[in-house]
Amino acid sequence: MREWSFYMPTKVHFGERVLKREAGVIAVYGKNAFVVTGKSSSKRNSSLDDLLDILKELDLKVHIFDEVEENPTFSLVENAAEECRRVGADVVIGVGGGSPLDTAKAVAILAVNESLKPEELYDSSNYSHALPIIAVPTTAGTGSEVTQYSVLTSHEGRKGGFASPLNFPKHAFVDPRYTLTMPHELTTATAVDALSHAMEGILSSHSTPLSDTLAQKAVELIHEYLPRTLDESDNLEFRSKLMLASTLAGMVIAQTSTTVIHAMGYHLTTFKGLKHGTANGLIMVETLKHIRKFAPEVVEKALGPFESEEKLGEFLERVGIYGTDVTATEKELASWADVVLKASHVKRTPGIFTKNDIITIYARSLKQG
Ligand code: NAP
Ligand code: FE
Repeated sequence: MREWSFYMPTKVHFGERVLKREAGVIAVYGKNAFVVTGKSSSKRNSSLDDLLDILKELDLKVHIFDEVEENPTFSLVENAAEECRRVGADVVIGVGGGSPLDTAKAVAILAVNESLKPEELYDSSNYSHALPIIAVPTTAGTGSEVTQYSVLTSHEGRKGGFASPLNFPKHAFVDPRYTLTMPHELTTATAVDALSHAMEGILSSHSTPLSDTLAQKAVELIHEYLPRTLDESDNLEFRSKLMLASTLAGMVIAQTSTTVIHAMGYHLTTFKGLKHGTANGLIMVETLKHIRKFAPEVVEKALGPFESEEKLGEFLERVGIYGTDVTATEKELASWADVVLKASHVKRTPGIFTKNDIITIYARSLKQG
């Protein structure tokens, strides 16, 4: 019998208007909040107002940093951390999609480790303390509200996640209402990110019986509710199913990490501008076909209700993942493959991946340029 453990120290509060009902607990963590968010969406979906209302009620000082862009960079987190330090904040609250949540995590560490550089975050022995983090997700995708990961883009343009137990938010306030404003393309991209977390969690050599249980549920929810949400985007019940799937899938990767699909997808975001979930979705089918040659049972398990790679492909087509044509040259594919092969993700993925295999998966998934 294999031994396993499960660690997920974030208290999750899930439901409509949950900030209003439950966020009093934030006062335990500080008196001066540094709120990290994106440029506009949190002002349109009421998440920021809900948070500011409760912080006012709790009599906390508030400083808002609203400059987070998609795929946060080292420079952005450095600037935000400097501001956080300058205002003397004692709790960091991320509001938004994965980008603001991941920024909040990096800021919480950098703010109290003044000489630490963002690149040094990748070795967690470089630091041992951080400000407490609170997460309010507004997309149903990354699950960052329940993970120890923060994904940043380096000065050289390389995207990569760092892991630290300090990154786990103390509390996550998950209100599916905030996702009602997501347009079609974002709904699809984020849900497919959650789908890839769940499937990769099942594929990963770090999977456990408990992570598999959560992952299988997440796959089922996305299989059933992504198409229904796209047909009826203001249905809160459907949105809440996708939000639940995303949080479950986050709990999964907190145990299992992601696999080669994420490692390969990062290049399509950095160099071709694809949304993170769309990037993963684009290479998912060909990667599963490759893994099947070595481990058919685990592929079947990951596919669950999708039943086959072909049917998964039809689903991804229907929800719009293949909508953008991405062209890449052989030279680009070869240089990306070199980086992918060095990533720890490959070791967690069943099967053997040569440089040529990675190039072939990319080539079959994209257009040749
Ligand atoms: P995101 O990059 O946070 O946001 C993408 C876009 O969606 C932004 O333009 C944002 O607008 C907008 N947006 C956010 N919430 C919205 C809403 N409710 N309605 C309408 N628009 C909304 O998107 P994401 O997919 O959630 O996060 C992706 C990032 O997370 C990537 O960097 C990825 O690598 C990372 N990630 C992290 C983990 C982890 O465990 N930490 C896991 C997977 C992925 P504003 O800029 O105006 O807010
Ligand atoms: Fe992801």
